[in-house]
Amino acid sequence: MSERANRAGGTVRTAVRVEGVVQGVGFRPFVYSLATSLGLGGVVGNDADGVFAEVEGDPAVVEEFLAALARDAPPLARIERVTTSAMRPDGTSSFAIAPSQPGTRRRTLVSADTATCADCLAELADPGDRRFGYPFINCTNCGPRFTIVRDVPYDRARTTMAPFTMCELCAAEYRDPADRRFHAQPTCCPACGPALSLLGPLGMAAPGEPPASGEPLAAAAALLREGKVLAVKGLGGYHLAVDAGGEAVAAELRARKHREDKPFAVMVADVAAARRLCEVDEAAAGLLASSRRPIVLLPRLPGSGLAEAVAPGNRQLGLMLPYTPLHHLLIAAVAGPMVLTSGNVSDEPIVYRDGEVAERLGEIADAFLTHDRAIEIRTDDSVVRAFRGREAVVRRSRGYVPEPLAVATRFARPVLACGAELKSTFCLARENHAFVSHHIGDLENAETLRSFTEGIEHFRRLFDITPEVVAHDLHPEYLSTKYAMDLSEGVPAAAGLAGVELVGVQHHHAHIASCLADNRASGPVIGVAFDGTGYGTDGTIWGGEFLIADLAGFERAGHLAPVPMPGGATAIRQPWRMAAVYLDAAYPGGPLGGVDGAGGLDVARRNRRLWPSVLQMAGRGVNSPLTSSAGRLFDAAAAILGVRDTINYEGQAAIELEQLADPAERGAYRAGITGPEPLRIAGHDLIRAVVEDLAAGTAPAVVAARFHNGVAGLITDCCLLLREGRGLNTVALSGGVFQNLLLLRATMARLERHGFAVLVHSRVPCNDGGISLGQAVVAATRHRG
Ligand SMILES: [Zn+2]
Ligand SMILES: [Zn+2]
Ligand SMILES: [Zn+2]
Repeated sequence: MSERANRAGGTVRTAVRVEGVVQGVGFRPFVYSLATSLGLGGVVGNDADGVFAEVEGDPAVVEEFLAALARDAPPLARIERVTTSAMRPDGTSSFAIAPSQPGTRRRTLVSADTATCADCLAELADPGDRRFGYPFINCTNCGPRFTIVRDVPYDRARTTMAPFTMCELCAAEYRDPADRRFHAQPTCCPACGPALSLLGPLGMAAPGEPPASGEPLAAAAALLREGKVLAVKGLGGYHLAVDAGGEAVAAELRARKHREDKPFAVMVADVAAARRLCEVDEAAAGLLASSRRPIVLLPRLPGSGLAEAVAPGNRQLGLMLPYTPLHHLLIAAVAGPMVLTSGNVSDEPIVYRDGEVAERLGEIADAFLTHDRAIEIRTDDSVVRAFRGREAVVRRSRGYVPEPLAVATRFARPVLACGAELKSTFCLARENHAFVSHHIGDLENAETLRSFTEGIEHFRRLFDITPEVVAHDLHPEYLSTKYAMDLSEGVPAAAGLAGVELVGVQHHHAHIASCLADNRASGPVIGVAFDGTGYGTDGTIWGGEFLIADLAGFERAGHLAPVPMPGGATAIRQPWRMAAVYLDAAYPGGPLGGVDGAGGLDVARRNRRLWPSVLQMAGRGVNSPLTSSAGRLFDAAAAILGVRDTINYEGQAAIELEQLADPAERGAYRAGITGPEPLRIAGHDLIRAVVEDLAAGTAPAVVAARFHNGVAGLITDCCLLLREGRGLNTVALSGGVFQNLLLLRATMARLERHGFAVLVHSRVPCNDGGISLGQAVVAATRHRG
């Protein structure tokens, strides 16, 4: 029907459909006020596809409405597409909001949890406001979202706020189009919403005097100031909090959590407080204060007064600002920085269900500051840093998830990518949306595996994606690979997914594809994947790889010369073993590497009891898989430099080696490269240089820096050779080793000096948390058309 035929007396009616993150962000109220202010009639509503509206009135005014729709949208809205079609006017002059209806096909997007907005903070601090000091204050522009959503469309009944019936006052605000809480689904107040309580470790009253009613927060703050360990229920799980200045309690928390050295994150009141602890440049300040409120990794200032046990021997500190009203109130009451670390023991996933708190945290916390709003899905704090003025995500979770990532790939068939094993994430993708999951953790126990499988089901339901293609790592023992295999065999746990098509994606190809997708690029590039371990196509363990890669495939064009990993996974936990095999490679049969001979070196002396048998094991190939891993090369250098012989968290030796290095040192060791492709790089040349420099009395800080520069140099040399042979001028850097900023800066500087275009990660981590996105784009590219 033509536009003209629809007109009745100069009036038009236009149907409008808005797609993107438009539910739970105040979009309907925004449309309502816009339409009523323009005097248009019609209706607006949520449905499974997003927001729909019909507007009726003068054609020029309807045009004005459509222009303002995108231009003035509420702050949390992410509009992806607006489509319109003409309708027959029906004479309506009033405007209404239609109630939500559950749809059959769900294409809507759920927004991420958002930090308390300035308007809510002002009310929180206003003694005259009825929500004064109320720890659950929120509005259309802020508050919990992903962590409370059970289903879509996003409405209170389908969130964990469902059990709380709004009081008269809240209901009136909720219904008032002029109010900031108009249709704010989690809105509440002290009369009708969740309430805080302070419990002792066994659910009894807190130690000491039972707190006066209505004051659990003040009592909790008092416990913190007294040096107690407090469990605090947050948005995506429980944290453990202690006074960040309390040496004894921080050390006690480490002992109770069985967490030896891995740094704790610290919450501070504001950017000014952050600047008293760390160097905070403008980019970092922007990240700290963003509504996503991640933990930001920052260079630490000396003499800040924090307890040594907060981040032992670490030059960096992870800081975050309060992101819930409860945090704001607590940090104000404590009046100083507070450790806020994940509520778990060692490497277990964080606790988020009230029913498991006593059992899992009862031995750790002295008291529990909790509440009666359930957490639907466990979500860790996100971790980011600023790199060259841009955000670089290290762990992507609360505040970011479940926003889809825009990538250049179109997913013609729905894809599930199962990720790797460490720092696990999965990715569900359909059409132009890649939903990378929240950080699940290391997939090596029943609890994380349950999070993984339940997370996939939750995302499938929220975004209505039934995968037809399932991508997985090539490692046969990863639980994520086994899950994919089970799907294809129609195991009952995977009901409804039988018969999916499997696509195996090599680990380092997935890293490079992830970096390409992160940059909306498709290659081909010279991909440099430097990480700990990943299963290679030849059955050895890769990790120091140069791949000529695009999204569809790759060729292995170069790699570190493989060495044995004596004891397999034990060699990852005991870097001195890598020192032994690298010394053996650097001095074959010679006095340093030999069974009897490494006597001159401290690392050999410290480990002399097992040194000969480890070398024998490696020599005979007993439980000693070959690896070209760059992470293991860093381990070897760290052990030889006396940084550490064993680790208690992943990547610890390399992290401490980076911190040891003198950033001002410009010298670099050289590594031999032999062709033809695949080029072989003699990593042990760097080890020999380390030994000789140390023997010459060079300071370890200088040696560590020359080693870093040497790795940057071998990467550059290799890329120059490959550019000559392949004519490619773009290099993509991925893999967990590039979390090392000293290495990343040195590598980029060298590559750029030689005219290379360099792609690095920003929106997804360079570590294995980014693998699922890489797998998804590879699977989609292979199955195009
Ligand atoms: Zn607000
Ligand atoms: Zn209320
Ligand atoms: Zn990896």
